Amino acid sequence: MSDPHELKVRNPATEEIIATVPAATAEDVDAAVARAVRAQARWAALAPADRARLLRRFADVVDARTEELAQLEVREAGHTVGNARWEAGNARDVLLYAAGGAERLLGSQIPAPGGWNVTFREPLGVIGVIAPWNFPLPIAAWGSFPALAAGNTVVLKPAETTPLTALRLAELALEAGLPEHVLQVLPGHGTTAGRALVDHPDIAKIVFTGSTSTGREVMERCARLVKPVTLELGGKSPNVVFADADLQAALDPFSFLDNAGQDCCARTRILVQETVLDEARAVLADALAAVVVGDPADEKTQMGPLISARQLERVRSYVPDDAPALRGSAPGGPGFWFPPAVLTGERHDSPAAREEIFGPVAVLLPFTDEDDAVRLANDTPYGLSGSVWTRDVGRALRVSRAVRAGNLSVNSHSSVRYWTPFGGFKQSGLGRELGPDALTAFTETKNVFISTEGPAQ
Ligand code: NDP
Repeated sequence: MSDPHELKVRNPATEEIIATVPAATAEDVDAAVARAVRAQARWAALAPADRARLLRRFADVVDARTEELAQLEVREAGHTVGNARWEAGNARDVLLYAAGGAERLLGSQIPAPGGWNVTFREPLGVIGVIAPWNFPLPIAAWGSFPALAAGNTVVLKPAETTPLTALRLAELALEAGLPEHVLQVLPGHGTTAGRALVDHPDIAKIVFTGSTSTGREVMERCARLVKPVTLELGGKSPNVVFADADLQAALDPFSFLDNAGQDCCARTRILVQETVLDEARAVLADALAAVVVGDPADEKTQMGPLISARQLERVRSYVPDDAPALRGSAPGGPGFWFPPAVLTGERHDSPAAREEIFGPVAVLLPFTDEDDAVRLANDTPYGLSGSVWTRDVGRALRVSRAVRAGNLSVNSHSSVRYWTPFGGFKQSGLGRELGPDALTAFTETKNVFISTEGPAQ
């Protein structure tokens, strides 16, 4: 049972408590939102170029602290140090991209008989951002920085297991000269602080990233206040590998092992054309055996621990010791370790093949031809990402258009670029983050009609 008053932050590689942080109550949320409302009026009144200048200064401060932020992410989330550096760099890049957007948030003029319509992009007000533990720093950045650039203020609730990098970001914002209460971070429990944010009448929009089940609840609660919501939820993404593909590249195990598989874009359904199934099995077996799992702070480590004892239990429940599988190895305790695994005896409709496991586990499934590949790829309630591997350009285009997912890659496993839109189809979410439209998602469009008729004679 977790303590309602404080959060104990544990290093998942050692199980040591590395920090204790007060947990925000509903009253703390009320007070933070009231401060954010006052700050928003002043922040929105700044010239866009001045807001952009402050955000660029914030990016410089984040850049100068890349190593510090990365080391914090290693200790609180168990990310490998290489990945953690990429994440800190991603937060900086999202800031810079958003800062440029602040200067380009334009309205339009629409002529009409007897006058003109002028449209404005107005900030929504105070944005509530609820972040998960799997990518604490980037996801805090994606939800918050475009909102700030568009003239909103932000109250951010990080996951209870990983509040430290978000707290540090808020300190760095002040150091960079952002006005007080423009970016507030309130660590707390989802069922108290998270719900209080969602239910607060002065929170104009919620950006939520996490499980589909919690996202559904957040959306239902937002509906009562007709509050807009962006949802980035779960995934069970396909990796569609045709017989003509470069199998070594297509079956890169980091397509599902990155961040120990705690990645909503992980390609955890490996769909392989049956004529090369044996070859694929051999490639995967060799690759899993070579994965270096261990201390995430060691530069040579490729995969760290899972986030928590709870997550370890969840992953274990999908991978019984006697399940047919290709397996790598992992350290014993302390720490929340699970070896990489590819389940080879699953049916496409079994729980391991359908549910988001969120660990270093994939299933291997054969398909016969292109139609069968598309059918299997779409046989999921999720639709976040996926890959298609083939040397046939026509087939690559057909399949990538036929698979219902928000972020597909052809002959690549890349999912996230801060300058392209990111988000899911079906139960993987609602709305898009990143990319050229990231700022407009935090605005309302207002149309003002200006009469050019003279006063009545
Ligand atoms: P949740 O979706 O419950 O948590 C995500 C965030 O929402 C956290 O900040 C959490 O706070 C908060 N939250 C929890 N309940 C509420 C609520 N009722 N109202 C508002 N906010 C709330 O994920 P879990 O951490 O419980 O992980 C469970 C599973 O979810 C994982 O095994 C994985 O499958 C999936 N998941 C998927 C993610 C993705 O990106 N696709 C990310 C994280 C999890 P708190 O930390 O206090 O619970």
